[in-house]
Amino acid sequence: PQYVYRFGGGVSDGGKGDKNLLGGKGANLAEMASIGLPVPPGFTISTDMCAVYYDEGEQFPESLRTEVANGIAHIEGVTGKRFGVAADPLLVSVRSGARASMPGMMDTVLNLGLNDETVVGLAEKSGDARFAWDSYRRFIQMYSDVVLELDHGEFEEALEIAKEDKGFTLDTDLSADDLRALVARYKAIVEDQWNKPFPQDVHEQLWGAVGAVFGSWQSERAKVYRRLNDIPAAWGTAVNVQAMVFGNMGDTSATGVAFTRDPAKGDRAYYGEFLINAQGEDVVAGIRTPQYLTKAAREGASAKPLSMEEALPEVYGELAKVFDLLETHYRDMQDIEFTVQQGKLWMLQTRSGKRTAKAALKIAVDMAAEGLITEAEAVARVDPSALDQLLHPTLDPKAPRDVIAKGLPASPGAASGIAVFDSDTAEKRTEMGDSVILVRTETSPEDIHGMHAAKGILTARGGMTSHAAVVARGMGRPCVSGVGTLSIDAKARSFRVGGREVREGDIITIDGATGEVMLGAVATVEPELAGDFGTLMEWADKVRRLKVRANAETPEDCRVARGFGAEGVGLCRTEHMFFDAARITAVRQMILAEDEKGRRVALAKLLPEQRADFTQIFEIMAGLPVTIRLLDPPLHEFLPHEEAEFAEVAKAADVSVDVLKRRAAELHEFNPMLGHRGCRLGVTYPEIYEMQARAIFEAAVDVAEKSGAAPIPEVMVPLVGTRRELELMKIVIDKAAEAVFADKGRRIEYLVGTMIELPRAALKAGEIAEVGEFFSFGTNDLTQTTLGVSRDDAARFLSAYVEKGIYAKDPFVSLDVEGVGELIEIAAERGRKTRPGIKLGICGEHGGDTASIAFCETIGLDYVSASPYRVPIARLAAAQAAL
Ligand code: PEP
Ligand code: MG
Repeated sequence: PQYVYRFGGGVSDGGKGDKNLLGGKGANLAEMASIGLPVPPGFTISTDMCAVYYDEGEQFPESLRTEVANGIAHIEGVTGKRFGVAADPLLVSVRSGARASMPGMMDTVLNLGLNDETVVGLAEKSGDARFAWDSYRRFIQMYSDVVLELDHGEFEEALEIAKEDKGFTLDTDLSADDLRALVARYKAIVEDQWNKPFPQDVHEQLWGAVGAVFGSWQSERAKVYRRLNDIPAAWGTAVNVQAMVFGNMGDTSATGVAFTRDPAKGDRAYYGEFLINAQGEDVVAGIRTPQYLTKAAREGASAKPLSMEEALPEVYGELAKVFDLLETHYRDMQDIEFTVQQGKLWMLQTRSGKRTAKAALKIAVDMAAEGLITEAEAVARVDPSALDQLLHPTLDPKAPRDVIAKGLPASPGAASGIAVFDSDTAEKRTEMGDSVILVRTETSPEDIHGMHAAKGILTARGGMTSHAAVVARGMGRPCVSGVGTLSIDAKARSFRVGGREVREGDIITIDGATGEVMLGAVATVEPELAGDFGTLMEWADKVRRLKVRANAETPEDCRVARGFGAEGVGLCRTEHMFFDAARITAVRQMILAEDEKGRRVALAKLLPEQRADFTQIFEIMAGLPVTIRLLDPPLHEFLPHEEAEFAEVAKAADVSVDVLKRRAAELHEFNPMLGHRGCRLGVTYPEIYEMQARAIFEAAVDVAEKSGAAPIPEVMVPLVGTRRELELMKIVIDKAAEAVFADKGRRIEYLVGTMIELPRAALKAGEIAEVGEFFSFGTNDLTQTTLGVSRDDAARFLSAYVEKGIYAKDPFVSLDVEGVGELIEIAAERGRKTRPGIKLGICGEHGGDTASIAFCETIGLDYVSASPYRVPIARLAAAQAAL
């Protein structure tokens, strides 16, 4: 097998398509060389060797020695210099380069090939003794650190002492003689720590460095980085050996890094930094303040030292041409490293540059407009989840912050406000003009008004699909959930965390994108939904097949969703409408009623209210399908839990406190998520669903009559597990429909369908589809019931599960495609067999997740439904899934 691939001097054994074999750096060096760009000659030892090296007990096979010798001969041939020969010595760099970029994670050695003899030759040949000795001392320092793994503190100390002795502050003040003395000192440190002299044999140096780079693949920091970025250990790294070029050979030499466009804003302007008379690591290390690349950037920052455009105009002109060439060639914004050696430009690296969401959007749209990429490519270039950053206010990255805790980034956006500990206070203080952050151990449907009033929500318990998280995302409120370190004392109206106390009225800030909780106010910046956003969305809509609907129940949410391009409502959770202050009393009377007759009296009060809700939603969603889910949560959620509330609630509901308490006790459940909820309510109290169905049909007929654009109600029954359950509920719903149509003398189209939230429902989908006219996968519950993991308690242990690789991602965020996904596939297949063309959608939180949406496309669902602020994300993700 071949392990060594050459580049430079008119040779390219590889190219940009060989990233897996040569790593990103190696593939792009070969590519740049092949299109005639000035790349110092070198060779890449392939990533395959990384596995061989570890398989053979960190040894190299004999055949590699010959190949590397040929590689060195290639560099010697191109440069005319000789490795280890004093007359005109060849120096090389040895760098890592994996398939995916792992910035700063692995090792690099520069100036390799220097020893006591070649340093003298280099001084003579270059006519610059200072440069030669500076290179040698840098080499010893780097090699000792990276390859010999000696304590680098002593080297730094020696350098400091050398400067202090002379009264210098800058490294560059040291003369050739000073540096020669420093080299002697460095060599003594090596001998002292390593018990051997610094290696003088350049081949020994080279193999040491190559081994160290392969070895750094298994360093702790590299392992951690791979884990955080899902990079498989099996990929391995390549090693690049390349002729050194020097940016530290005087004032016509320089080194720098650049982006072909602004990576923060996306503007079409070269962007970067460089340093005159310096080596690569000086720019990164921040020893000297780097200079701007362009005159415009320097003037914009009113900076003093001349830009590259002004200081080295000719090379700058050449560099600018290279930028344009690389962009055209790679058809993407590039991140570049270069060096100028005595007026000659050398390219050391190019790769697609990392960028902010805003820049990603602008660059994609601009490049399509420039004709560099197609519209479809532009759509594929933007990470849908990055759009989140653009749709909410975010913290000013420049603002100082005092982070006191960290939880789950449950709903994006940032908010500052006074901490309050209950929803009524949240509402009151908001009415008084305060900005409020609602802090709760966890939230329940009773907190809706407080959450709505608040600028942000912070909870100590609950995961990414906890009530707080779901509702906050739906409302577009920032939310940090599951901050386990938070100890809340709701009675005392305060919380403690890490020895600090926050009381009601104290200002805090939450960042729902990172999960950070901060003390005090941190400045935010408003989102800019510039034209690029709309343009990209239009292009996305042209290619996507999946429809995108919204999970929305208030007129406000529906309006936001439509504004973001929702094509209907995929889930209207009717229980949220029951918590409204004006209705909760009637809801409670219904629950407290002793018999059906009593319940019907209370339900009659709710009917007009529900009808009004649906009327508004149908008007906003005119002509579009609206899926309305009948009541789902267990009834005790509507009753008070705190002793203090009983008296007041009993009075309002016109029952005694004893009756209220008895009823609350009767309704208590040990495992409410598997309790008396969903269609089990409809089975036991059909009159509840009957009222809801009536309200739906009355509203739909009214709107059809008024506007002409008849809504298409899809009445959805929750938590169905058997055909018979759905059949019973369909009878109730159809009967209500017929009654309304007879009353009003007008019929409308509607569908009756079910959520698929239980494994049994998925398995028996064939039978259920005999009754149900559509399925909507409620993947929050389906994940909970399939995994047997409580969606409200999972936060405590799921992170450990993800860390240990049991689940690749939080299954409540990104669909467990293997497990839950298989059930969905089974249900889709069996449902379609019974009812060809049955309408299939997803309305769990996964409907707004990119990877889950890709799965929905694969199995051919008709639509996904996401919370309003995720609608644009879903549109883009659906488009990418279709590409
Ligand atoms: C679900 O279970 O996925 C669902 C959408 O319903 P809810 O979140 O209201 O239980
Ligand atoms: Mg559910």
